[in-house]
Amino acid sequence: MHKFILASGNNHKAEEFSKIFNKDILSISAASEKLEVVEDGESFNENALLKAKAYFDKFKVPVLADDSGLVVESLPGELGIHTARFGGDNLESRERSELLLERMKGVENRKAYFVCVLCFYLGENEIYFFEGRVDGNVSNEYKGEFGFGYDPVFEPLGEHDGKSLAELPEWKDKNSHRAKACLHAEKFFSERK
Ligand code: IMP
Repeated sequence: MHKFILASGNNHKAEEFSKIFNKDILSISAASEKLEVVEDGESFNENALLKAKAYFDKFKVPVLADDSGLVVESLPGELGIHTARFGGDNLESRERSELLLERMKGVENRKAYFVCVLCFYLGENEIYFFEGRVDGNVSNEYKGEFGFGYDPVFEPLGEHDGKSLAELPEWKDKNSHRAKACLHAEKFFSERK
């Protein structure tokens, strides 16, 4: 079994990851202290690495860091690694989603994807990245009450009757960008046992 601490002060995230992973393969616990890490990388990988390295340097144990966001084809550079701050620092999650709908009014190309990058930092010379994606479209309206963030304005590709991710909680658990990245990681570490 491989043990990691999570490079995040968010206990919900640690709980979420420990629920996804098979504990016989990967055990994830919350870090004892939250560090303020400046995420000024130019990619999801760079930001995940910045977080992982900061926690490894401080706690000297293997670290898991994640970085995720929504990439919208028609708004290049606006979301992506900046997704959490889209529209400025002081917006509520719903306001960001509504701003996205506003910006996409009349835009024909609504293609978008969620991406999650996991960085497993075992030491300076042993670092592994895993990525998961979900393709879809920005919806025309805000709908659904499950999930979080931009889920209510994202319709994943597939036969979902035009439902948003916020209306597909069970499907999301198994097929989200985060779930897919975790699956890749779990496969890798299980073969490494
Ligand atoms: P973080 O890096 O995981 O904290 O997420 C960055 C941004 O992407 C935040 O604004 C989240 O709301 C958004 N985001 C990441 N994953 C999801 C998701 O599964 N659903 C909706 N929004 C997400």
